Amino acid sequence: MKLLTSTKHLEVFNPATGQKIAEVPITLPDEVGTAVARARQVFPMWRELSFAHRARYLYAARDWIVDHQEEIIETICAETGKPRTEALIAEVFYCCDLLGYYAKNSERYLKDEARSPHLLKNKRVYVLYKPLGVVGVISPWNYPFTLALGDVVPALMAGNTVILKPSEYTPLSGLLVERLFREVGAPPYLVQTLCGYGETGAALVDHCDGIAFTGSVITGKKVAERAAQRLIPVLLELGGKDPMIVLKDADLERAANACVWGALSNAGQICMSVERVYVEGPIYDEFVRRVVEKVKSLRQGSEKRLGEIDIGPLTMPKQLETVERHIRDAVEKGAQILIGGTRKDGLFYEPTVLVDVDHSMQIMREETFGPVIPVMRVDSAQEALMLANDSHYGLAASLFTKNRELGAQLARQLETGNVCINDCIANFAVLEAPYGGVKESGLGRRHGEWGLRQFTSPQTVVVDRFGLKREPFWYPYNERMVHWISRALRLLYRRGWRRKFSV
Ligand code: NAD
Repeated sequence: MKLLTSTKHLEVFNPATGQKIAEVPITLPDEVGTAVARARQVFPMWRELSFAHRARYLYAARDWIVDHQEEIIETICAETGKPRTEALIAEVFYCCDLLGYYAKNSERYLKDEARSPHLLKNKRVYVLYKPLGVVGVISPWNYPFTLALGDVVPALMAGNTVILKPSEYTPLSGLLVERLFREVGAPPYLVQTLCGYGETGAALVDHCDGIAFTGSVITGKKVAERAAQRLIPVLLELGGKDPMIVLKDADLERAANACVWGALSNAGQICMSVERVYVEGPIYDEFVRRVVEKVKSLRQGSEKRLGEIDIGPLTMPKQLETVERHIRDAVEKGAQILIGGTRKDGLFYEPTVLVDVDHSMQIMREETFGPVIPVMRVDSAQEALMLANDSHYGLAASLFTKNRELGAQLARQLETGNVCINDCIANFAVLEAPYGGVKESGLGRRHGEWGLRQFTSPQTVVVDRFGLKREPFWYPYNERMVHWISRALRLLYRRGWRRKFSV
């Protein structure tokens, strides 16, 4: 069941069965330069294509995904162990939506943009969004198709060529991304997938013109340090310890359902999983009762028939170790296990509900990335907010209340990149809005125009309109010029004027 290391091949295992399912050749770090050089050769041709032309490949890719959905789902589930329903919704469906969204909207977001100068009224100004060149996408294993295509697609639409380095645990989903572009007739080497360990990813940072990294905080910092050596732009989508707040006026049934699904889907291995829950005193007992009841009814196992399980295994031994370590630490410090708390065969860990938890425990502070729901009683919305913000992560948060005003007020005070009110995890499916983290959860934003523009280098062009022989502030300097500029300063910025004419 362990991922074995060999110098030339990755061995891929099905975490649900322990069976070895494939061997995949590795690209060693010193071979990465050659792949980047190939991508550079395609770049000038791809950059010159119109948005409509590029979009045609995206629509064809979407058709390919629809036609190959069974195979894609099979591949994802075989190397992650997740239920097919989740691969269909969060990977296949999401990717189809993403392809259509960027095929349709990229031109609007990236076309040359006229700017009206605040000061220099005698100039025409416009901004061009130029591609970076070759973009490296380094992706994790928890959503191996979604989090690969999620950056590959906007990088391509922005005019870049792309090299994808999938996680060493899920190379097969990464290879599907390369194959899909090949089979829809995209130019050779437009999208290449290089499989390997972290060192292959590190070599990508040494050669590419921009990096989109999704993964852990610890690796993200290494990538940022390496990228700093070359001053290339880097998008960092990192981990989270997402809080859920349930206030006393919440719709209890919806909040409990959201909590169980938000914490346990993909066996809790979602960057935006509900990782800790704060519930106001008056509804605490009833909320916990409902959550435990719902967890009891979940079916865990290795899926043989479509839809027969709700939770799969953890994807790798290191995740199992983290879950066990966090639960052990919590119990040693006084937490109680209400349900679960036991390791089953292989990589399966029972969905677990913990109470009597507090912030001295790792389970409330470090990313667990497993099927665990720690619930803490709080006395007020303010206490819940303070505890939610007591974290070095800041990816997402959810809060449940019927009081819209209070909900909006708390959302504003939450120190996270994303907030859901009376919902959870939904932010990721809203392609029009920025998605990303604050604090140690990341830098930069996916989705919308933000997701595209980060793969460009804006170039500002200023064009003189009147063709005077010289500008009033060019050489030679003289006293008259200084007086004239000083008078202009007083005229433009004198008190009262600003409010009247908003200068
Ligand atoms: P990881 O950091 O171990 O690995 C991520 C990728 O980085 C892999 O492809 C790996 O091979 C590569 N890598 C490792 N060392 C490298 C190096 N020195 N230089 C360049 N690349 C290197 O993360 P993981 O375990 O694969 O993924 C789980 C983490 O990802 C969790 O923390 C999760 O929260 C986070 N995540 C974040 C988001 C988000 O959108 N914010 C989404 C999914 C997952």
